[in-house]
Amino acid sequence: MGKGLLIVISGPSGAGKGTICKRLLETNPQIMASISATTRRPRQGEENGVNYFFIDHDRFENMITKGDLLEYAKVYGNYYGTPKDYVIENLEKGNDVLLEIDIEGALQIKEKYREGIFVFILPPSLEELKSRIINRGTETEEDIKKRYGSAMSEISQVIKYDYVVINDDIDRAKEDIEAIIRAENCKVLRVHEEIKLRF
Ligand code: 5GP
Repeated sequence: MGKGLLIVISGPSGAGKGTICKRLLETNPQIMASISATTRRPRQGEENGVNYFFIDHDRFENMITKGDLLEYAKVYGNYYGTPKDYVIENLEKGNDVLLEIDIEGALQIKEKYREGIFVFILPPSLEELKSRIINRGTETEEDIKKRYGSAMSEISQVIKYDYVVINDDIDRAKEDIEAIIRAENCKVLRVHEEIKLRF
């Protein structure tokens, strides 16, 4: 697809993916965040075109039909998908692109793009996960049950990923991802063209 790294982050709701990604983007200007399209309603404080592109069902299905999405999945009853052009354009420019998506979507990308880097974020414990979902205060009781109820089956998929990061400390989790990116950038296969030029 291009020269930049495609970094795919997944994990159960409440693992802290959003906060880690936000921190990562603040200090790594070469990483571009893909903005997903979703049919979920905006939460308080969320903005269209910033957190997500909030669109209706028909428009989402139209994007699927037109092949505008790199991947998509139905998560907790709503559609979520990654607009294709933004990702491809940035990877071709040499920028790294960060996707924070669910497991089904991540595995769709893994099928098509093996060079992607697949990172799974785990909470320190199930109890901590539950209290994070509840304390976030943005979900209905039904949503909390859905999200917590899915956690164990989501965690069982960790084996399909390349890396796992346990989020018991946000700064350390962020540094772990930076270390993963650094190591990936040193892989012989990624730099062999440059090695040929230099030696
Ligand atoms: P939330 O509603 O909490 O923002 O997100 C719910 C879930 O949808 C999270 O696991 C998040 O990673 C996932 N998600 C967000 N955007 C996408 C996307 O573009 N594609 C897929 N497959 N999942 C997404």
